[in-house]
Amino acid sequence: MQTLMLSTEEIDKAAQIIREGGLVAMPTETVYGLAADAYNGKAVANIFRAKGRPMDNPLIVHIADISQIYGLVREFPEKARILADKFWPGPLTMILPKSERIPDEVSAGLDTVAVRCPSDPYARKLISLSSPLAAPSANLSGSPSPTTAHHVFSDMNGRIDAIIDGGECDVGVESTVITLAVQPPRLLRPGGITLEQLRGAIGEVVLDDAVLNPLKSGERAASPGMKYKHYAPQAELTLLKGSEESFLKFVNGMKDGKTAVLCYDEDIPRLELPFIPLGRAMDHDVQASRLFSALREADDKGFKRVYAHCPHTDGVGLAVYNRMIRAAGFKVIELDDKTS
Ligand code: AMP
Ligand code: MG
Repeated sequence: MQTLMLSTEEIDKAAQIIREGGLVAMPTETVYGLAADAYNGKAVANIFRAKGRPMDNPLIVHIADISQIYGLVREFPEKARILADKFWPGPLTMILPKSERIPDEVSAGLDTVAVRCPSDPYARKLISLSSPLAAPSANLSGSPSPTTAHHVFSDMNGRIDAIIDGGECDVGVESTVITLAVQPPRLLRPGGITLEQLRGAIGEVVLDDAVLNPLKSGERAASPGMKYKHYAPQAELTLLKGSEESFLKFVNGMKDGKTAVLCYDEDIPRLELPFIPLGRAMDHDVQASRLFSALREADDKGFKRVYAHCPHTDGVGLAVYNRMIRAAGFKVIELDDKTS
């Protein structure tokens, strides 16, 4: 299969591919999504094939207008309405009881469906010209999510019909996922809309254990995507917890030509080995927007080991932490021995 690279002037062509049951990678404000008509089970099944995604990991349905939600869900509770008013269009996904029209391929057999209204104008135009779109991130399953059309091309060339090149994604990590199918509502995946913002809007929101911790053996994931190794580069990523001094001392002792550091801008003058900057230490938004691209860059440059700061967990930092700790397979080194 030849994968077409389309410009944002050619969205009508992309919509035609979707209507005919094909797969199109589209830009969104979070990461690039791999889209198919959400009401076409066969087309949706091809998303799983193209990504190598386990069939039990459900997809998010993207809508362009709130009116489209009524075909997708059985209930639209008051709290969901408040969140939609406040945060849509934007990087928030809500899990709600699904309507009978949703094919099993989308919801992976669950009786709920994940819905999001993206703000990216090209994604919205594609949806408007075709239908609600089921779309996971447009990467091979397990690898870092794509934040440029080039990232999508390097994973998906020959596996999908087309890619719309809409430039670089703004947020850079996937949407916040909250389930409103349980009481109290529960945050399953942190993203650009923060836990603090959600609590400010609807009161109590529980932080699911799987956001910060690995699943215990035998434990069932509230969000099936949480149980897989995720976002991982080929290089071995390790997070370092400790003071700035001990971080620099540790990484500067690791010079071997095959090791790099994902660093904060403040570290740069004192680093003695190759580095990829993630932004300033307190700038979580910039770190989020650079993270996946930085992980891919480490692989492109052939590094075998990568060390990074263990991020702060406030605001969007929680999303950065959640992606990094999974990319690292939960490998963290404590540099400052608190017992001494
Ligand atoms: P992705 O689109 O690849 O960023 O992944 C979507 C995330 O939403 C995954 O972690 C899924 O497991 C999760 N998800 C999608 N639908 C549901 C659902 N109905 N219930 C719980 N989690 C879901
Ligand atoms: Mg994904």
